[in-house]
Amino acid sequence: KFITIEGGEGVGKSSNHRFIAEFLSAQGLEVIETREPGGTPLAEEIRELLLTKRSEVMSPTAELLLMFAARAQHLEQVIKPALQRGAWVLCDRFTDATYAYQGVARGLGTDFIIELEQSVQGSLRPDLVVLLDLDPRIGMARAQNRGETDRIEQENIEFFDRVRSGYLARAAANPERFLIVDASVELEGVQEQIASGLTKVLGC
Ligand code: C5P
Repeated sequence: KFITIEGGEGVGKSSNHRFIAEFLSAQGLEVIETREPGGTPLAEEIRELLLTKRSEVMSPTAELLLMFAARAQHLEQVIKPALQRGAWVLCDRFTDATYAYQGVARGLGTDFIIELEQSVQGSLRPDLVVLLDLDPRIGMARAQNRGETDRIEQENIEFFDRVRSGYLARAAANPERFLIVDASVELEGVQEQIASGLTKVLGC
């Protein structure tokens, strides 16, 4: 099975990634933990480019294509081989992030993303998307408290409002594979929502 974790900045992806990995491992499942953009040496180099080139320098379409370039490499080298041998893959961000960030927040729309998704992934989609939903004002304050300001300084709050609405639109259009988690409560409450969602959706 293929599980992805999605959400804006400061929603708690890292802590909840660890929680899900431990939850699945405790069931005796083999879990491959990875992330996007990145997940292979080449894709991590592309990530460096994506995170260091400011939006004045990189065009939205170049950003979109680099996301899918990294994803193509990641799929061939890591995700598909793992799924084929029956492992579970837990990935921080995947194509739903592309719909939210490049499609909605950067305003590229969905047509080209749908085409790229089809060409690069074929029919492969996550079995479950754990969407950590949070008002970006709270998320940005949390990220700032941890000193993670690089990315948020490059964009304004409206950008992150669009990211959030992009994710919620994806969830509304794909309710069968989205678990929307209220990430505004304390970590324990978030983890309870995730655990009951995992149990219900995946039967584990
Ligand atoms: O998941 P993480 O927060 O490490 O992602 C790194 C950065 O890449 C994020 O700050 C996010 O804004 C950006 N990103 C993006 N478009 C994507 C995925 C991630 O702009 N499709």
